[in-house]
Amino acid sequence: MAEKCLCQASQVVLLPCSGGSNCGQIANEAAVDLTRKGLGNIYCLAGLGARIEGMIESARSAQRLVVIDGCPVACALKTVQSVGLEPTDYLDVTEQGIEKNHDFRPDPMAVSTVVDRLRHLLGEPPQRG
Ligand code: SF4
Repeated sequence: MAEKCLCQASQVVLLPCSGGSNCGQIANEAAVDLTRKGLGNIYCLAGLGARIEGMIESARSAQRLVVIDGCPVACALKTVQSVGLEPTDYLDVTEQGIEKNHDFRPDPMAVSTVVDRLRHLLGEPPQRG
């Protein structure tokens, strides 16, 4: 089976943890929203975790690698680092004043807060590198 992904890495790669909590789902929704707005492309964190070489190389070629974790456990960041990549930009949803719980319906206001913060980040030079 070919190791390709139709998600396709782009100049701005968005890697949400998409975890099993409100904050993980807020991270995912924010990445989907930015993708719909044409400000980046959500990418497959699981593909990196699975060490799919083509996907790792595509992510490595992006200009901005934006990692969005739901909480300080930082699963997305650790997954990215486990394959030898470092994010250019990083956001932890709980650092935006959003408390973690297990309500999986992302609060639209919280999603909007995270989207606004990410838009701000993307309008500035990369945090790292
Ligand atoms: S970073 Fe937090 S919310 Fe995201 S997958 Fe890990 S534990 Fe879950």
